[in-house]
Amino acid sequence: MSVKTGRVNVRGKTIPVGYQCPDCDNDVRIVPMGEGVSVLQVIHDDTCPWLGKHK
Ligand SMILES: [Zn+2]
Repeated sequence: MSVKTGRVNVRGKTIPVGYQCPDCDNDVRIVPMGEGVSVLQVIHDDTCPWLGKHK
């Protein structure tokens, strides 16, 4: 199941975020980075042309 939106914590504030790659059916993952901070990680399909261009 794809998840394209989530919430991240930045300095104690919870912010809704989302990302949809124009080139593939990406997933996103919320990664806790530490105390009160988490980031949005975008996971592209292996075949994504965007990924090929940005490696
Ligand atoms: Zn992509």
